[in-house]
Amino acid sequence: MTATGSWETIDRAHVWHPYSPAGQPALHKVVAADGTRLTLESPSGSKAEVVDAMSSWWCMIHGYNHPQLNAALHNQVDKFSHVMFGGLTHDPALTLAKTLVDMTAPGLEHVFLADSGSVAVEVALKTVFQAAAGVGKASAQQVIAIAGGYHGDTLGDMAVCDPDNGMHATFAGVMPTHIFAPRPPLASNNNPDDCVADLHDGIHAKAVDDWAQSMSQLVEQHRDQVAAIVVEPILQGAGGMRPYPAQCLQVLRDLCDEHELFLVVDEIATGFGRTGSMFGVNHAEVVPDVMCVGKSMTGGYMTQAAMITTQKVARLVNQSPAGALLHGPTFMANPLACAVSQASLELLRDGRWKTQVSLIEKNLASKLLPLKGRCGVSRVDVLGAVGVVELNEPADMRRATETALRHGTWIRPYGKLLYTMPPFISSDEDIDTIGNALVETTLHEINCTSGKPT
Ligand SMILES: *Cc1c(COP(=O)(O)O)cnc(C)c1O
Repeated sequence: MTATGSWETIDRAHVWHPYSPAGQPALHKVVAADGTRLTLESPSGSKAEVVDAMSSWWCMIHGYNHPQLNAALHNQVDKFSHVMFGGLTHDPALTLAKTLVDMTAPGLEHVFLADSGSVAVEVALKTVFQAAAGVGKASAQQVIAIAGGYHGDTLGDMAVCDPDNGMHATFAGVMPTHIFAPRPPLASNNNPDDCVADLHDGIHAKAVDDWAQSMSQLVEQHRDQVAAIVVEPILQGAGGMRPYPAQCLQVLRDLCDEHELFLVVDEIATGFGRTGSMFGVNHAEVVPDVMCVGKSMTGGYMTQAAMITTQKVARLVNQSPAGALLHGPTFMANPLACAVSQASLELLRDGRWKTQVSLIEKNLASKLLPLKGRCGVSRVDVLGAVGVVELNEPADMRRATETALRHGTWIRPYGKLLYTMPPFISSDEDIDTIGNALVETTLHEINCTSGKPT
């Protein structure tokens, strides 16, 4: 029987939301979105325009309803919206593949267009197992993944997400098992007058050395059974929003070279400017063997992602017994998605993102800094266009969301984390609003009798 009535009634009866029980409706309905603003309608019908501090799960970097992105879609939809990619190619895919190769490190040359970030990581995993088989290492059917990581929600991806905070407990019986390395040390800045993460600071040297040693032991112990190391470069995203020192990436590159493993970097969250450099790996000038990109690539318009490999990896896959990469989604290289991703990358190529992201970093740091050391707050970090406040106790998601909305901002906290990844086009005023809302929400969530540092 179909429900009728308010949007909330229909949502409750029929619509499943992410990580939510069936029957739990959304908090608000979006009735318009433009630039950095969402217009939300509450269950009672009242409307409010708020700043989107989440970039719609980190992908809407140029803002909603962007004239150039809209034009790219209109232009392509009038030609053709979709064709199969088996045996056929088209200009939107050719152009996008060339752009991705141009923008990424020299050496990364073969592009597999996937329909979501999770699928890109699945394909990367299949690729490294096939490439290992191509060098005669067919026994290598595991990878080394990093504790605290997040790589997507499909079965293969869950298995490389953090084993404790991920979904391992629920799906243990049906998931592949992999080897887990300890999470890299935090690159938090110990300077009380600053909360911009220090990616290159010598203060982390000892922690990096210790971590490098345990990594090295782990790789030596398991090298015959693993094909690759899989890592999110410079910032562990959904697994905890933790920046880590750039030297750690060099450590992984060196270990992979020494033991003939592939280095897979998942740039789906970090790629295209979010952390202040074009890619997370650029902080360390490390070139991976396999890179996954998504989210910002699309400008937030259509679901798309990509895996890019070196010639060597591609050649080894071809040499494997199967002789070809065994993956092929129906909507692979969808022309509409390619056209709008290309338009998003062209906006990035004009270079304005650099100034935008560094201004956002500066403004977020000045707003969030006063929360450092406050009772109830365990960590404050800013890196590029990412601002994180970690509380000692989990936030009440509904209450925190409503507090931020009262301060004109849409956030989606999870666990102990209140954070923002604003659109790059955010004005100073937008970042002021977001910063104030994060501060007010933090103060409302922490349960301290005095505001004194603990
Ligand atoms: C979001 C994300 C994914 C998954 O991408 P989807 O498009 O949501 O499937 C994978 N890896 C990282 C690092 C991500 O942030």
